[in-house]
Amino acid sequence: MEPKPKNIALVAHDNIKKDLIDWVSWNHRILARHNLFCTGTTGRFIKKALDEKNEDPQNGKLNLTILKSGPLGGDQQLGAMIVEGKIDMMVFFWDPMQPQAHDVDVKALLRITTLYNIPTACNLSTADFLISSELFEKPYSPKPLNVDYYLNRSIRIE
Ligand code: PGA
Repeated sequence: MEPKPKNIALVAHDNIKKDLIDWVSWNHRILARHNLFCTGTTGRFIKKALDEKNEDPQNGKLNLTILKSGPLGGDQQLGAMIVEGKIDMMVFFWDPMQPQAHDVDVKALLRITTLYNIPTACNLSTADFLISSELFEKPYSPKPLNVDYYLNRSIRIE
């Protein structure tokens, strides 16, 4: 039986978009079996790259959802999807050399991936390791961080 497709978030900042597009093109056959969720501009480029790679344009349906552009709320949309259990892994090439207008959103998204224990690749080599992992094609349920201490904390009101 074919394993259930994974929902994979793909995001890259402008200076590193080419690296992500090249990675997606290189891995297009593997990724074609999964559902891709991208922030706006990244998604437009990825769609173009995958359309060019599509060996069967009649039947090769692309499972690609393009959300809002990152600075316009796309990172937050992905964060919300992670909280709702709708994303299985993320490749996010964020730019370590340039501040972003939406730095707080970037930080929030990375925080949520850590909290929910979502496999996250922030550079090319980690993305290579993730996609070549045995677990990539197997069912895997990440165990979120234990936050019982937080949920059960006592708060004095007054
Ligand atoms: P973009 O957003 O794909 O719309 O450029 C990237 C990001 O989230 O910073």
